[in-house]
Amino acid sequence: MSANSEVEAVYQQVIQRNPGETEFHQAVKEVLVSIEPVIKKHPEYVETNILGRIVEPERQITFRVPWQDDKGNFCVNRGFRFEFNSALGPYKGGLRFHPTVNASIIKFLGFEQVFKNSLTGLMMGGGKGGSDFDPKQHSEYEVMRFCQSFITELSRHIGPNTDVPAGDIGVGGREIGYMFGQYKRLRNEFTGVLTGKGLEWGGSLVRKEATGYGLVYIVDEALKDAGKSIEGATVLVSGSGNVAIYAVEKVHQLGGKVVTMSDSNGFIYDPEGIKLDTVKQLKEVERKRIKEYVSIHKKAKYTEGSDGIWNIKCSIALPCATQNELDEKDAKALVKNGCIAAGEGANMPCTPEAADVFIENKVIFLPGKAANAGGVAVSGLEMAQNNQRTAWAFDKADSELKNIMTTIYENSKTAAEIYGKKGNFVVGANIAGFLKVANAMMAQGLV
Ligand code: NDP
Repeated sequence: MSANSEVEAVYQQVIQRNPGETEFHQAVKEVLVSIEPVIKKHPEYVETNILGRIVEPERQITFRVPWQDDKGNFCVNRGFRFEFNSALGPYKGGLRFHPTVNASIIKFLGFEQVFKNSLTGLMMGGGKGGSDFDPKQHSEYEVMRFCQSFITELSRHIGPNTDVPAGDIGVGGREIGYMFGQYKRLRNEFTGVLTGKGLEWGGSLVRKEATGYGLVYIVDEALKDAGKSIEGATVLVSGSGNVAIYAVEKVHQLGGKVVTMSDSNGFIYDPEGIKLDTVKQLKEVERKRIKEYVSIHKKAKYTEGSDGIWNIKCSIALPCATQNELDEKDAKALVKNGCIAAGEGANMPCTPEAADVFIENKVIFLPGKAANAGGVAVSGLEMAQNNQRTAWAFDKADSELKNIMTTIYENSKTAAEIYGKKGNFVVGANIAGFLKVANAMMAQGLV
């Protein structure tokens, strides 16, 4: 993998220690390859084995989640919380409830989170958790009982100054509410132990919109830097969850036109532009499938499966669903059709080969670590508001978000330039994120 023998040795040890965890291997490899120029310049990171330490989670918690369904059956799922790195602050990162969740997925997400949180400039360490429970398959009361059981166990390990989870796939305001309520009962305290809370009880304005808006802010920043604009651009978005919906909203506010959205069953193409009110009603209120859209908007087309979504002509692509959803052939199709920018709303939605295609073809490629950091950034702002027992206005939170995304862009761009990889935001984001964490670990001794 690497020309550098120390870096290669760390990677081989990760494979040996985490057998079969391919998503985690993929995420580690991307970071290790990116930071090779840093290692060359700074032998102290090798001497103190920062690399060997940074790829090992500080703590891995796996637990049984027993709960009862509506028929009285005794059910069991598996829960995870991987507390990856606390050099910069309390562990911070979302909880994912999805049947595909396993140790590899949580570990890759936790690892990415460390560098992403570092990039925001806020004082947050990195962690991630979740369960293989699927909220979509269960009634309201089953979801509530599951969340209560999940947090009953997790409550031993988290706290407002220790570990502050948030939402991710399958965990939205409803699930955060059930977990927060149960945590409050167990501890008899009202603290900001979870972010993504309801606005009436400690949540922050703009948290719901933050990841999607932040994604579009950073893409806009990069386009402007290249003398281009979102205005008038045709945009492809995948997913129809929290990130996707608010990415579409911001693109439309800035004068672009989004023509696709998807869910795990298939995708819709509306050449006249996605009617977001319909999607919000279907997804946020009625919890229905995206294919229902075409029965309301007759000019739109529904395609089963995800094959073909990236073949549609566009100038900007924003994958906002899940990991490895856009591969090399998709990236080649996008390039062929004139795509000028791709921003990762989801975590690691582009395969490494797809990312290479974008970079080789001078498509502006903004990796998830930088591009979707807006969500955790506003979570950090929610923690600050909770500590001060205050609630900011929408405009204040939104302008803080915009500033953070601009800073992430500038820092990633500068780091890439300093280390001889101008225009490569994968390398830039990894280096900028890594340096802060590595330096904090060095300063804190053998941690
Ligand atoms: P949601 O659960 O709100 O939405 C996820 C969307 O992606 C849904 O449309 C879902 O469809 C689709 N999806 C999920 N799994 C698959 C799959 N295996 N194949 C195809 N489609 C799939 O999650 P979010 O919008 O919160 O998260 C989306 C991505 O963004 C994730 O990678 C997450 O880690 C990342 N992210 C989220 C942040 C946040 O603040 N929410 C912050 C930073 C990153 P269906 O409903 O059919 O499952």
